[in-house]
Amino acid sequence: MVNRERLVNEFLELVKVDSPSGQERQIAELLKQKLIHLGLDVYEDNAGGEVGATAGNLIATLPGNVKNEEVPVLLFSAHMDTVEPGRGIKPIIEEGVIRSSTDTILGADDKAGIAAILEAIRVILENDIEHGELEIVFTIWEEGGLKGAKALDYSRINAKIGYVLDSDGEPGTIIVSAPAHNNIAATIKGKAAHAGQCPENGVNAIVAASKAISKMNIGRIDSETTANIGIIKGGKATNIVPDHTYIEGEARSLDVKKLELQTKHMCETLKTEVGKFNAEVIIKVTREYNAIKLSENSPVVEYAVQAARKIGLTPKLTHTGGGSDASVFNERGISCAVLGIGMNKVHTVDENIKIDDLCNTANIVIEIVKLACSN
Ligand SMILES: [Zn+2]
Repeated sequence: MVNRERLVNEFLELVKVDSPSGQERQIAELLKQKLIHLGLDVYEDNAGGEVGATAGNLIATLPGNVKNEEVPVLLFSAHMDTVEPGRGIKPIIEEGVIRSSTDTILGADDKAGIAAILEAIRVILENDIEHGELEIVFTIWEEGGLKGAKALDYSRINAKIGYVLDSDGEPGTIIVSAPAHNNIAATIKGKAAHAGQCPENGVNAIVAASKAISKMNIGRIDSETTANIGIIKGGKATNIVPDHTYIEGEARSLDVKKLELQTKHMCETLKTEVGKFNAEVIIKVTREYNAIKLSENSPVVEYAVQAARKIGLTPKLTHTGGGSDASVFNERGISCAVLGIGMNKVHTVDENIKIDDLCNTANIVIEIVKLACSN
């Protein structure tokens, strides 16, 4: 039912449009046209203004064609932005695989998700397939902060069940758990002094910070938990005892209690070690997003599992160590799974996707819509 050639051509068209995070205007306009052409009601929210992007999130609605109030409203989402180097992408097809012919990413992350959703809607409409209300959300600025999803106009969303088409792993891969994530930012304040004349009068903020970091458990903490210090800044000159250092890191865990413990460990270590130097530390912990934990028996998972089987794929329930728009959607009361769409080596110039996987993803969307209607 999926028109392979049409789907591939549309995917190629989408990846050729530059859309670095925050600069989604051009792709948003193109997608708006496509959605309107399909007959959907399209709304662009004000997220662009809020986060400083050139476009907002697109929310498109297709009313159901069945008169059954039991049929759940479904949300399908993918993000419009891409990482760098992602400008002037020239895709090529080699033996059923699409990749970039030059030193850029391909942008299958996440335009494969967008293309699959568009093709699925087209097939549903062409074949008069019964469906409940469908909500399509194309977000801005997912990469580096989930900014679009966080600023989305949720007053426009009715769905309580959703799918974010934005993971590697073959179609059939269903992400049922994802970590909660804390950002930890700390400013260490020492005391400046001339490093040659009177270092004993100073308090070295860099040394204090480094001692603290060296005492922290960082990296892979356990199978569910990770931690990192990713930024360190400070110092003005070699002859000045630095009075200021800034460090920033993160902790993630599938288990919120473990996240709290790891975060506490990092903060306490900072306070204790920095204290030994008579330096001061100001710490700010921010919850970037909460964990996802979907039950295997929940409708959102069941539909995806059955949809994969319907088209002859083996469903695979798994977890991820990363965040996605689904992390934010779940927080907002939408029971939302992330689907593997077959994109490979994302965020690298070797990124690629099989045409078969692109087609299977569109088919899974169609099957989910059908299942939600018949159950
Ligand atoms: Zn992505």
